[in-house]
Amino acid sequence: MRNPFEKMPTVLTADEIIDKAFRRAEKAASALTPKGGPRAKARQREELRIRTISNVIRDNLKKLLDRTPGVSELPPFYRELVDTLVDRDQFHRSLAHVNWAIKTIRNLEQRYAEKIRYSRDPDEMSRLRRQFYGRVADVIRDIADDLEYLNQARNVLKDLPVVDLNLPTVVIAGHPNVGKSTLLRVLTNARPEVASYPFTTKGINVGQFEEHYLKYQVIDTPGLLDRPLSERNEVERQAILALKHLGKVIVYIFDPSEYCGYPIEEQTHLFEEIYAEFGEFPFIVVLNKVDIADEEKIKTVENFVRSKGLEPLRISALNGEGLDELKRRVIELVKPMVEEQARKIMEKELRKYRDEL
Ligand code: GDP
Repeated sequence: MRNPFEKMPTVLTADEIIDKAFRRAEKAASALTPKGGPRAKARQREELRIRTISNVIRDNLKKLLDRTPGVSELPPFYRELVDTLVDRDQFHRSLAHVNWAIKTIRNLEQRYAEKIRYSRDPDEMSRLRRQFYGRVADVIRDIADDLEYLNQARNVLKDLPVVDLNLPTVVIAGHPNVGKSTLLRVLTNARPEVASYPFTTKGINVGQFEEHYLKYQVIDTPGLLDRPLSERNEVERQAILALKHLGKVIVYIFDPSEYCGYPIEEQTHLFEEIYAEFGEFPFIVVLNKVDIADEEKIKTVENFVRSKGLEPLRISALNGEGLDELKRRVIELVKPMVEEQARKIMEKELRKYRDEL
């Protein structure tokens, strides 16, 4: 899936829209070669101005509405992220106001075009056209705040992460420097893409691997699942919780070598927090850097992990030790979910097929 707000256009300010429409109307009027007597000529010119203004403004605003998805229609992952970035009610209210402006301008256009058509006096036609200009400008100024709000919203929403919501996804967690991004690189055999993500300056790293014709997505979340949740503010927490809609399995990394700079007690503390928060997910716990870690420290971490009812796995992202087993465990956990999803898709297709018969 792409970022749902990718196509949202830059939103012009009220003044910019008015200027643009009025300039276009003048250009259209001066390019016109009207036919008939002075009255017919004036009528054609004024009507063209009115139609042009209305068209330019309505096209512009319609494009904005057409290319902006409603927050409530989004998949839960995006919905939750959007809620951390913009006020959903205000966002929808502003879109509704834009819709109101489109309709109002359309009505004004019809009313004034008709008045001009029935008028017999060129001066009056020009007076009516100016009146129309004034009313349209009022309508656009009425939604000036909404336009501004939508543009601000666009500037943050266009940076939402691009992730494939249909792929079973493994989320990697653990303190900084325990080897998360190294693991992602060796697991996915590809240069991971960096997708922006709210409230992290580094974005998230997204990679994929394929096994038996099924694709899996792996996500490393620098700055998100690498320090205690209790230290986060409300909005950051929500950005972290949005990951729940994405991840199917959590791979938690310990660094028993402590070269990462976090003593084992701190690492177990972070694990406890994340395990409590994401408890409904299957966890795979790995001990990385076993190539340089003390056996004693490895054992300490292993005992801790076993006390949680989990079976730890020793790996080295650097020399490849344990990685095949890690993949095997990931697939073992995720495969039933993928198959379940495939079954649902097939049933849906079958139903469609039967309905067509
Ligand atoms: P992240 O911050 O969790 O993404 O950690 P990085 O992947 O950037 O790794 C931090 C450092 O640990 C880097 O210098 C890696 O080369 C090193 N590293 C990662 N995995 C291993 C490993 O299995 N063994 C050893 N010796 N070093 C590792």
